[in-house]
Amino acid sequence: MVAVSACLLGLNCRYDGKNKRNEDLLHKLKCYEVVPFCPEVNILGSPRETIDLFLIENEILAIGSDSKRDFTKLLENEAQRFYNSFSEVDIFYFKSKSPSCALKSAKIYDKDYNLCNEKGMGIFAKKIKELYSEAKFVEVR
Ligand code: SF4
Repeated sequence: MVAVSACLLGLNCRYDGKNKRNEDLLHKLKCYEVVPFCPEVNILGSPRETIDLFLIENEILAIGSDSKRDFTKLLENEAQRFYNSFSEVDIFYFKSKSPSCALKSAKIYDKDYNLCNEKGMGIFAKKIKELYSEAKFVEVR
């Protein structure tokens, strides 16, 4: 089974109500059983406020840009919920640059909003990697 960030499949689940449909990926996956996921739409719907990652006291936190709410735990819970429903995933395709889904391209800020890392991992992706120790992980632009 293959799991994919839903916005890459063309679902309008991004913060702006749009998607990041990737035709090459869709073509590649046409013979596979595909399960979409979008942790942020499950928590906040779409459109929604954006989320930024902050390094605070050695912890990466996901904070809403308008509400200033901490969504870190909720995003981790989404990963656990996904695992409880679909434990047999072999490959994950994650959208790049997302504070939830990125594997190596999320921006991380310090508490004063200075950029300190552009190669971070999203909160959901990090928890998924812990849960699926045997799976393969691919980041897609
Ligand atoms: S990158 Fe992840 S959280 Fe953001 S819209 Fe796509 S699936 Fe949802």
